[in-house]
Amino acid sequence: MLELKNVSHIYSNGVRALNDVTLSIPKGMFGLLGPNGAGKSTLMRTVATLQTPTSGVIQFDDIDILDDPEALRRRLGYLPQDFGVYPRVSAYDMLDHMAVLKGIGSKGQRKDTVETLLNQVNLWDVRKKAIAGFSGGMRQRFGIAQALIGNPDLIIVDEPTAGLDPEERNRFLNLLAEIGENVVVILSTHIVDDVSDLCPRMAVLVAGQIKLEGSPAELIERARGTIWAKTIERGQLEQYGSDYEVISTRLFAGNTIIHVLSNTDPGNGFEAVDGGLEDVYFSTLAATRRRDTAQAA
Ligand code: ADP
Ligand code: MG
Repeated sequence: MLELKNVSHIYSNGVRALNDVTLSIPKGMFGLLGPNGAGKSTLMRTVATLQTPTSGVIQFDDIDILDDPEALRRRLGYLPQDFGVYPRVSAYDMLDHMAVLKGIGSKGQRKDTVETLLNQVNLWDVRKKAIAGFSGGMRQRFGIAQALIGNPDLIIVDEPTAGLDPEERNRFLNLLAEIGENVVVILSTHIVDDVSDLCPRMAVLVAGQIKLEGSPAELIERARGTIWAKTIERGQLEQYGSDYEVISTRLFAGNTIIHVLSNTDPGNGFEAVDGGLEDVYFSTLAATRRRDTAQAA
């Protein structure tokens, strides 16, 4: 169990990237969903002990990670959002090198580890090829392999599906799903489907604050009766935007289907829809925008 209590982070330029974040993250896959700039990477780097929060407490099982970052690092696997340099070194040699850095000294043990991981992420056939020549999906699978060195029980993957094509994304998510239920896996993403496909627990982070937390099904249930849909012509969009709280628009066969948020039946040809996680997420973003606009006024 990973626990964050009242974690805030203010960068030296004054940006408050995390604002009093309190979260309990149990074993299994946990989705951290939020738009660009929400603070996801800041949160993940902080948990990975790469930066120290301005205030707050973070505990992983019985480790106080701010007190004893070394203890956390021994149990951590981390795939940063920007993995950075892609060397002209082969996948095999790179992984072997990283295993040395992670403290696997014995040659035999390293061989086992590297070979198992390359098979697990389906890169065995290209193990002798340079990572520099890998596709986005292959790089991310390599990224997972390096994160899994040493059997970590806290795994952090920061926006791993961004930029992957649908097939690569699927393959990558399946790989994550196999990692197991006995470790904590935190997946950050701005893609709602990543979370709904994969995560039994999730939180929505917007502007440094946790806005929602629970299972996708619970959050969807909570939104029941508040999402309404109507098919309109494209030219009517602006009018509807000012009359209703439009949370999403989708083109369908040349028309526009809008979803609006309303606690009561808006009438005017709107029909109740069972909102999905996307509606829940967009409603949360809309509510945050509304509050910010009200504050600015
Ligand atoms: P996300 O990963 O959700 O896109 P980030 O954690 O990268 O969000 O960023 C959160 C906020 O903090 C943004 O406003 C971003 O511009 C700001 N920020 C991130 N890193 C730094 C930094 N090193 N110095 C100053 N501001 C930063
Ligand atoms: Mg990020």
